[in-house]
Amino acid sequence: MGNSVKQLAVLGSTGSIGRQTLEVVRALPHKFHIIGLAGGKNIDLLAEQIKEFKPRFVYCQDREAGSHLVNAECEFLSLEDIARQPQVDTVVMATSGSSGLRPTLAAAKAGKNVALANKESLVMAGEIIINEAKLNAAQILPIDSEHSAIWQCLRGETQPAAQLILTASGGPFCHYSPDQLNGVTTEQALKHPSWQMGRKVTIDSATLMNKGLEVIEAHWLFNMSFDSIKVLIHPQSIIHSMVEFIDGSIKAQLSYPDMRLPIQYALTYPERLPNPQFPKLDWGIINNLSFEQPDFDTFPCLKLAIEAGRKGGTYPAVVCAADEVAVELFLWQRIKFIDIANLVGQALEQHQAIAHPSLEEIMAADAWARQRVLKLASGDSSC
Ligand code: MG
Repeated sequence: MGNSVKQLAVLGSTGSIGRQTLEVVRALPHKFHIIGLAGGKNIDLLAEQIKEFKPRFVYCQDREAGSHLVNAECEFLSLEDIARQPQVDTVVMATSGSSGLRPTLAAAKAGKNVALANKESLVMAGEIIINEAKLNAAQILPIDSEHSAIWQCLRGETQPAAQLILTASGGPFCHYSPDQLNGVTTEQALKHPSWQMGRKVTIDSATLMNKGLEVIEAHWLFNMSFDSIKVLIHPQSIIHSMVEFIDGSIKAQLSYPDMRLPIQYALTYPERLPNPQFPKLDWGIINNLSFEQPDFDTFPCLKLAIEAGRKGGTYPAVVCAADEVAVELFLWQRIKFIDIANLVGQALEQHQAIAHPSLEEIMAADAWARQRVLKLASGDSSC
């Protein structure tokens, strides 16, 4: 790339990762140009972003509202069409949920650099996406802090890692007993101790589902077996993950929890650039980095996701879709916190899985799981 300006398409620009991506772009204006922006339902913010960055391509979920955003300088395209535009160098996949799957695949097929924050793409269709990326020389650049940490630790190594150690903050309910968890509210679950994130991923952090999905992502991104990926609770969220090598040596990546750092690393890779906005670690304040084993019994989502990842096929898609619906039901206060794991577990039990599924079979499993969770939540447990 040299000194040329990278053309970025930010899909999910109004969400938490999208907004922080644009902060990085504002801080490094000579490095990037925004060529595409895609937002969800926050039309006002998307309109502001379009005014500021003047993208060539625009998408928003609400087509009718979106039609007002389009002017003489920009064109309304689907997420997939934006992802595969020839002028786009890097696609930032910052949407949340399974809607990210097709645009991620389109970007991989078009041989783009894919700065990937959307978990569901790799969890649901890791095999397909990784194969397409290889086939078309697309680079998947992880934005998730854990995967960015592992990626950074692996750089310069010539031999495969022995073990990946994914750290987890433990969320707001770390050390809660099952009884205590029974009564927690949406408000409590949305208060994450160390990270500022979107609502879905904040709840997933509280159930530890997020970490389970990250284990599946790590399996695909780094070609590691599930036996070689460990989860470690690290409440301070300073070590973002670690890699152990065959000689027992361990490398870790540290920083304050700030998503802009892994976002910037993915966008400027293989370069590192100074960004005065990033807080530097103050060793006078950090006097305790602690670690403990996760409690798989109190937080069954972690186990459910990893088991689904091991089984493969359409199971991971079912975990994603079932969890997405269950978390929404919890946010609407229709189910209890602990019911998220119960519903995901029941959906997995009832699922008739397909090995090495096609994209259509994955989407069918996704649709089935959504229906199933809604039925189960309404008290209908018949298959
Ligand atoms: Mg993460």
